[in-house]
Formats: sequence, structure tokens, C-alpha cells
Amino acid sequence: MDERTQDVLRGLNAHLRADLEDCYRDLHLHPELSFAETQTADKVAKRLAVLGVEVATGIGRTGVVGLLRNGAGPTVLLRADMDALPVKERTGLPYASMATALDGTPVMHACGHDMHVTCLLGALTLLAGRRDRWSGTVMAVFQPGEEVGSGAKAMVADGLYDRFGKPEVVLGQHVMPIPAGKVAYCPGDALAATDALRVHLFGRGGHGSLPERTVDPVVMAAAIVMRLQTVVSREIGGTETAVVTVGAINAGTKDNVIPDEAELLVNIRTYTEDVRSRVLAAVQRIVESEAFASGAPRKPDISTIDTFPVLRNDPEATSRTADAFRAVLGAANVEQMPPAMASEDIGDLATALGVPLVYWYFGGADPAAYAAAVEKGTLADDIPVNHSPTFAPVISPTLEVGTTTMTAAALHWLQTP
Ligand SMILES: [Zn+2]
Ligand SMILES: [Zn+2]
Repeated sequence: MDERTQDVLRGLNAHLRADLEDCYRDLHLHPELSFAETQTADKVAKRLAVLGVEVATGIGRTGVVGLLRNGAGPTVLLRADMDALPVKERTGLPYASMATALDGTPVMHACGHDMHVTCLLGALTLLAGRRDRWSGTVMAVFQPGEEVGSGAKAMVADGLYDRFGKPEVVLGQHVMPIPAGKVAYCPGDALAATDALRVHLFGRGGHGSLPERTVDPVVMAAAIVMRLQTVVSREIGGTETAVVTVGAINAGTKDNVIPDEAELLVNIRTYTEDVRSRVLAAVQRIVESEAFASGAPRKPDISTIDTFPVLRNDPEATSRTADAFRAVLGAANVEQMPPAMASEDIGDLATALGVPLVYWYFGGADPAAYAAAVEKGTLADDIPVNHSPTFAPVISPTLEVGTTTMTAAALHWLQTP
């Protein structure tokens, strides 16, 4: 690793680690849903102010922007998402969340965004502590609403780049269930586009003993769920990529009441516009045809809940940044990985300006537990994935590695004074 990176990373001492761990546990205990990240934003803003970073809050509703100006040189955008999920935590950790939203929905940092926020604060602390070793401007973006796919767009629409300047590159990271200590990256197309749909089905309710007097939306919904399984298997080519998942099916209240209506929540993942439009058309055709086949009194309503773009890492910029990780963490800890079907909206921050995006992953799973699970062939059973009620990164070394990668990536793009 080069000397200046070494000098900056030296600041990640026991004192800072302890402080960041406290910060992480506090964020984990107090998760907030998308666009409700007000306490989180407050905590971030206070910490930035202490570091001497210029702070602006309320950007894209609950987002925070921090500018660390340090002379001539490029502006580098570092992004952390802040929102949590409507999941009831079952990790059993002493700092497990008991939080609920205003309507009583349990809330948990089940995607590790609390770790992202802490690591970015760690990187800013290191960079602010050694301004003699770099020059340029660090633009820290604490983004709301990633889980609903609209936080990045909201910040751009709120004048992120007109008000705070234009970066030359967008850098971001995500914790995932690979061993803590490991870093992975995927140049080019890395994450899929998402279309999330709400399907509202109309039947005609009545007594459970008199089905002939009703149009049963439960049976209609069941037929649609089964037939949707044929979209990928029968309408998409073997070398093309798509996933169609019905994540929720809601209808009825009691065994002897046939309800009036049913609702399906459908999640679609694709990589190309051609496949995407074919899948969307097939879903619409099947939903409408099954409703017709059931004798539905009204055509179903299909509406979009949210969408995510394909995440495309700039291949050259990503490979160069990965080399910077290798220099710091050792080549054995940095691996290239294939594209995945998850989704992310960080790409909207880069495409808004046409600048390169570099987005990578860092491990959060207990390395010993992970190795044991691989040995036993029980990875799926024993290692919780993001969004699971038992997902929680081990704090160490996840926090050190995430802080180190964000710092090393920033230094790679900033100027040497
Ligand atoms: Zn997530
Ligand atoms: Zn996430």
C-alpha cells in the first residue's frame, strides 16, 4: 500500500474503533424506515459538524450531504444509505432493535445500512484527520429511501449536484453474507433492474357455503400465482435472465367468508430492457386473462410500487479501485464475482451526471461460522442473508474493513497534494 494511504489509515486506532462501534450499536438499536430517517440524519449531521465537514440536511426529504473541502482536486462522492426495513429482529443480540414505526410495524436494520453509515463516518474521520495527505473535495452522501428505490432520485431532484457540486466518480459499498474481511466486486452490469407491482383483483364475495353465488378472488389469485411461474420457464430464453416472485398474497378474513378482493405483490428482476418489457407484458396478460377466466366483475388494477435501474459499474474504474483494495487488504481478500439479481438505486446518482460508478461488497458473516457452514454444506441454513430477521454483521472486522475500503477508494480518486 502506498505511504499516504498507510498514513491516513493509521488513524483507525483503538479509540476510533471503539467510537465507531458505539455509533454502529446506537444506529442498529434505532432503525428507521425509508424516508423516516430523521434521528439517523440528526446523528450523522452532528458527527459531521464535529469533524469540520460542511453539512446540509433535508436533501431529498431526509438525506444528508457533507462536504469536506480540501483544496484543488477532484470531487469524489461517497455514498451510504441510511434506511431500515419492516422486519422484526430475531438476532438475539444485546443491541437488537425493539423499534417500531408509528403504526406499530417492527423495524430492523436487516440490510446492514447502519454499517454503511458507520463506515462512511469512519472514512470521513480518517480523511479529515489527515488533510495533509490528499487534496480535493469529499462529498459524503447519506441517502434515504434505498429500500424503496427512490432515495437517490429524490436527492438528485432536490438539487444535489446544483447545490453541492458535481463529483467525478460515485463510490458506494454494501455489506453482504460473505466472510467478514473479504471484499468482492463486479465490473460492468452487477445488479438487476427491479419492477415491483401491486395487483388488485376483484371478485364477488359471499358465504363460504355458496361458492356458486360468488367470484372467488382467492382461487383467482392462486391460479395467477401458479401461472406466473411459467413466465420465466416458458417465455424467457434459457440464456436470458429474469426472476418473477410473488412476495405477498393478501385476501380474506375468515374460513366461511369468500372475500370481495385479493392483492398480490409481485417482484420482477431483469437485466435488459427487452427481457424486462416481455416479462411485464406477460405478467399483465396472465393477470388479466386469469381474472377473465374466473368471471371477475372488473379488470384487475396493476400499479407500480417501485423500480430500480440496472446497476452498471464502470469496468475500468472498478478494476482500478479493486486494485487499491488489494494493495490495502491483500490480493487473497479481494475477489471478482458474477452479477447478482439484487437491486440498488445508487446508479441513479451516477447516471444523473454520466460519471462512473464504482460499487462493491464487503463481508459481514462470522468467518469461522461461514467456514463451518461451507464444510457442512449448510450455507443456506446457517448464514443469514440480507433482509432476514437474523441478519447481523459481526462488528469486527466488518467495521474496520468497510471503513478501510471506503477510505482507500476515496484516496484512490482524490489527488495527492
Ligand atoms: Zn436491502
Ligand atoms: Zn441494502
